[in-house]
Amino acid sequence: MNITLQGLTKTFPARGRRARGETTAVRDLSFTIPDGRLVGLLGPSGCGKSTTLNMICGLETPTAGRIFFGQEDVTTLPPELRGVGMVFQNYALYPHLSVLQNILFPLENLKGDKRPTRAEMQKRAREAAALVQIEDLLDRRPRELSGGQQQRVAIARALVKMPRVLLLDEPLSNLDARLRLQTREEICKIQKRTGITTLFVTHDQEEAMSISDFIVVMKEGVLMQQGAPQQVYDDPANLFVARFLGTPPINVFTGRVQGGRLLLADQEVLAVPGAPDGPVVAGIRPEGFEPDAGGGMACALSRVEVLGRDVSMVCTHPACQGDTLRAILRSGAGAPAQGTVRFALRPEKVFLFDPDTEARIPFDAAAAR
Ligand code: ATP
Repeated sequence: MNITLQGLTKTFPARGRRARGETTAVRDLSFTIPDGRLVGLLGPSGCGKSTTLNMICGLETPTAGRIFFGQEDVTTLPPELRGVGMVFQNYALYPHLSVLQNILFPLENLKGDKRPTRAEMQKRAREAAALVQIEDLLDRRPRELSGGQQQRVAIARALVKMPRVLLLDEPLSNLDARLRLQTREEICKIQKRTGITTLFVTHDQEEAMSISDFIVVMKEGVLMQQGAPQQVYDDPANLFVARFLGTPPINVFTGRVQGGRLLLADQEVLAVPGAPDGPVVAGIRPEGFEPDAGGGMACALSRVEVLGRDVSMVCTHPACQGDTLRAILRSGAGAPAQGTVRFALRPEKVFLFDPDTEARIPFDAAAAR
């Protein structure tokens, strides 16, 4: 079942006498979560991710716009009738109940003919526990579990009602680095196994890129770009998206285009056929630099960091907007130890942006070689 958001807006009114005005947390947001897919909703803190999630599950009412589950308009449907499973950052398990009782809880709260028999409840709770591989932990209390296990209980509890949609709000934030990796892979597997249409909210771009079929990037309540993770990384629509995706982050420079050439601090660094003359902001991915004695970009090397498979060259350049820039090369690529290093640039790793609007300025990267 597809989930479609159409022109969704949420404005919170000003509060109290000193309030400075209303907040529009989400503005005219439209996107579709295709049936059975996992979509990552991504953006910095305060960009409206949780508000979007809360509107989908029915905890918040949109100020404008509509929400469809398949063909059904659920915009005003109460949360309990939407068939949504929610998993939060803090697990929110009941400490005095066992794992099994926690998983059973949503079923026991069902009323009337929706309430399954005791035997059916037990069967469904055990099936949900098996799905997230916690069958051996059913008698324990939450405090007797690791963070990752607690999060799996929370997922089983969300799955037990056989929801039409699964919403995950920063589900990995409370886990340490190793457990985050492991649990995110498990969430991915559970989602594929169940085929439930899923929205996964995170501010961590690496997390979103690694598990999502599609990502939706938001800033200040507005959709910036959506698409397959690699496609958005390779073809960012604007400077915000280019900066937000990628570790280490993209290197940003103040430059200008003149006669189809990109100039950074008066060095001709790349042919940019098709780009109009004028000032630009240039973004260069760390993997876009190739050491080349005849290369147009001269940088002062500060240090070389060996990262196992790769080497990171930390340099300075007069046009760089940050203190340093980072070039990532395969180790063994013959990086010099100090002095001036010259780079040629891989055109498909260089993006130009309008300094005022931050929108992408296209050029013909294929013809730039
Ligand atoms: P985080 O990653 O920090 O959880 P988020 O992207 O989920 O952030 P939201 O929680 O959706 O962001 O908040 C978006 C904006 O709306 C913020 O500016 C927030 O202060 C504001 N906001 C959220 N809920 C309310 C509310 N009930 N009343 C007023 N303003 C609110």
